Formats: sequence, structure tokens, C-alpha cells
Amino acid sequence: MDVFLGIPRGFCAGVVRAINIVELALDRYPHPVYVKHQIVHNPYVVQSLESKGARTVEDVDDIPEGATVVFSAHGSPPEDFEKAQRRGLHVIDATCPLVTKVHNEARRYSNDGRKLILVGHHGHQEVRGTMGQTSMHLMDDRDLSSPPGWEDDTPVAVLTQTTLSVDDTSKSISEITGRFSDVVVRNDLCYATTNRQEAVKQLSQITDLILVIGAENSSNCNRLREVAEANGVRAYLINGPDEMDSRWFDGVEKVGITSGASTPEDMVLAVIDALAPDTVSTIDGVDEDVSFVLPRELRD
Ligand code: SF4
Repeated sequence: MDVFLGIPRGFCAGVVRAINIVELALDRYPHPVYVKHQIVHNPYVVQSLESKGARTVEDVDDIPEGATVVFSAHGSPPEDFEKAQRRGLHVIDATCPLVTKVHNEARRYSNDGRKLILVGHHGHQEVRGTMGQTSMHLMDDRDLSSPPGWEDDTPVAVLTQTTLSVDDTSKSISEITGRFSDVVVRNDLCYATTNRQEAVKQLSQITDLILVIGAENSSNCNRLREVAEANGVRAYLINGPDEMDSRWFDGVEKVGITSGASTPEDMVLAVIDALAPDTVSTIDGVDEDVSFVLPRELRD
């Protein structure tokens, strides 16, 4: 069996920054350091930080007064910051700067008098944070929801969740631009999402099966699996080698492997070890050179 690795894969700059923030907070502040929502959607990352003294909670009201809390990379609605202030919490915000950009766009276009449509997935943490910035209509491609029934000439701005499928999002945007006459489109899919999906498309040209390594609740991992299937290749999303089924590989000679933006490379290496392939090669892909600065209080 031959294995082909997608490039790029694994951690993006927003995930690296969020993990660094928790680690630096653990170095500097009393334990436990609370983390509101999983810092990134990966159980190994969460467990590793919890073993060092982090404690993950879903609700700000579950954090003892005066404690330090890191808000996750996915972004948070203003009401969570207000709750934290009422409880006297020390908040360190690990929201990815590319998500913060979407929050800023939402407030700006709303102040300009435009009605907002967010193309995103109902229930995802990032969508919760973005929807909290101002009033907006959510369009979710999974339930085939339509553009809202506003007047045709309503000034509209379209924002997107950062981790959606490039192809599905462009279909939703076309539907909106076909429905309203005055539309500003901000395609907010981030560089990491776009590059990893492009790499999966390349893998799907040369492999019989693709393994996406990452968590079930990771939006960008799920999209990678869907992109592989949309390009005609059987694909599975697994956390690690324990979740592989040997029957998947009957008659398979070429396996593609990629991983989502929140997946540690160790998990990819563990899967390669378990497959014990004859060869491992990497495809040509975008060389990402992106990093984000830390919050001021953690910079030395
Ligand atoms: S996937 Fe994109 S938006 Fe999400 S943390 Fe990474 S860079 Fe930021």
C-alpha cells in the first residue's frame, strides 16, 4: 500500500495561537485555568491541556468568581463577556483573529444599515459567537434553507462561517446574490479551510480512499471528508488508528491522508504507523506562512 499525505494539513495559525494562549496562562496564573468551550475541537488537545491544569466548561456561570478563563478559538458572543465581567473573571480571549474579523464586519455592515445573512451551520460554536454580534439571518446549506423573504432591494451583507465547504458556500452565495439586488459579499472562509480542501481535491485524483484525521465535532474535518466524497473518493473521519476498520482497505492500493486545522500531527503519524505502508509521499501544496500575535498580556 502507498500513502499520500496532503499538504497543507493539521494545525492552522489560529489553533497554534489558541493552544499557546492556554499554555502561557497555565504558566502564569493560578490553577485551574478555565477554558470556555473546547479550546479547539480536538479531544487530544483538550486532554493534554487539562492534564496540565486547564478545566473546560461550557457556561461562564460555572466558573468560580475571580478565576482566569480563556475563551475558545471559535469566538464568543458579547453576552459571555458580560457574564464574565459580572463574575469578576480574568478573561483572555483566544478567538482566532480571522473570526474576530467576521465579528467586526457584522457590526460594521449593521451600522451601515445593511441586513445581514450568515452562511453557516446551526449550533456550531463559531456561529453562536457571530450571531451574537448583531441581528442576522442564518442560512444553513445542510437543511437547504433559503434566503430570507425580505424586499428584493433590501441592502444585504453576506458573511460566512470560516470553516465551510468552499463549493457549498459559493452555491449559497449565488442564491443570495440572485435573490437581492444590493448585496455585499464577504466570503470569510479562511486560508486554512481553503488550502486543506484544495489539498483533498488533489489527493482525490490519485488515491482510492482518503482518511481525514480529526474530531467528529470539528467543522473543518467534516468538510474535508465531504470534499473527498464529492470528488468521488470514499473517505472516513477518524480520531486515530483505533477507529480504523481493516475491511476499509480491501483492494485499496493508494491511501490519502490529511488532517483538520485542529488535529495534532502525532495523530497522523500514529495512523501511518498502524497502516505500515510500503511508501509514504507528500503531494505538492501551498506552503502556509501565517502566524498571529498573542494577546498583549501574554507577550514578553
Ligand atoms: S480554521 Fe481558520 S478561522 Fe479557524 S482557527 Fe484556523 S485559521 Fe482561524
